[in-house]
Amino acid sequence: MLNGQKMWLTNGGSSTLVAVLCRTDEGQPEGAAPHKSMTTFLIEKTPGFGLNETVPGLTIPGKIEKMGYKGVDTTEMILEDVRIPADRVLGGVSGRGFYQMMDGVEVGRVNVAARGCGVAQRAFELGIRYAQQRSTFGKKIAEHQAIQFKLSEMATKVEAAHQMMVMAARKKDSGQRNDLEAGMAKYLASEYCKEVVEDSFRIHGGYGFSKEYEIERLYREAPMLLIGEGTAEIQKMIIGRRLLEDYRLAD
Ligand SMILES: Cc1cc2nc3c(=O)[nH]c(=O)nc-3n(C[C@H](O)[C@H](O)[C@H](O)COP(=O)(O)OP(=O)(O)OC[C@H]3O[C@@H](n4cnc5c(N)ncnc54)[C@H](O)[C@@H]3O)c2cc1C
Repeated sequence: MLNGQKMWLTNGGSSTLVAVLCRTDEGQPEGAAPHKSMTTFLIEKTPGFGLNETVPGLTIPGKIEKMGYKGVDTTEMILEDVRIPADRVLGGVSGRGFYQMMDGVEVGRVNVAARGCGVAQRAFELGIRYAQQRSTFGKKIAEHQAIQFKLSEMATKVEAAHQMMVMAARKKDSGQRNDLEAGMAKYLASEYCKEVVEDSFRIHGGYGFSKEYEIERLYREAPMLLIGEGTAEIQKMIIGRRLLEDYRLAD
């Protein structure tokens, strides 16, 4: 029987299948590493929200109201004594859940990095267009060196993040472990995305604050990328541990 609560399910309401990582008894000795006692269960459910259980014991209370990322629903999930058939274990073997999820997270981090590149690229395009339309002090603002410097920094960040994201994706595609590269790409692309969006917002002056301009929406989209698939602090922990593995001094 499955019991527990999980916040932040992307498509939690509209989905028909949920992969749930659970602690399971794998006969490990007391004090053994917890990641060896985790299993991914697949729960089939009907789409929907509200207090009506979508399968006996499973409740999706409702959509979480968010500042951005509105194209998908995001929910909580409550499991109370949920029974599922014994064969609904991902991969058919229990105790492999942690490794399965980490494999997925490596792809997910490249995915978030790619989204960061897309949002940053669009913010840059909006900024360089607006800078050639708006005039102050008798010239286009793109002719002010302060604005040109911003545009230069923005374009450099977009290009650097893109290169790192593609490198991490290629490594995964080739079947190699890419946790270091995925962590670096996710960290860099999401931080640069936030900075490029902020600079584009500043270039727009007061209009950046108006919902009539697309940059207002991008300003609300960028923060999610700092958090999803692990925060900057978590990426830096992963990067740091991997670096110490790769550069360990000989005993
Ligand atoms: C819109 C949205 C959709 C999401 N979709 C999904 C989904 O589909 N599936 C899913 O599983 N999750 C999903 N998430 C969850 C998301 O992955 C987490 O919110 C994210 O990983 C951060 O975890 P947390 O919210 O528990 O923050 P916390 O872990 O509580 O972190 C809070 C702060 O503490 C810091 N911190 C935490 N631990 C450490 C540490 N050891 N050292 C230093 N600093 C630390 C963090 O960096 C952060 O600044 C989604 C989140 C959002 C906002």
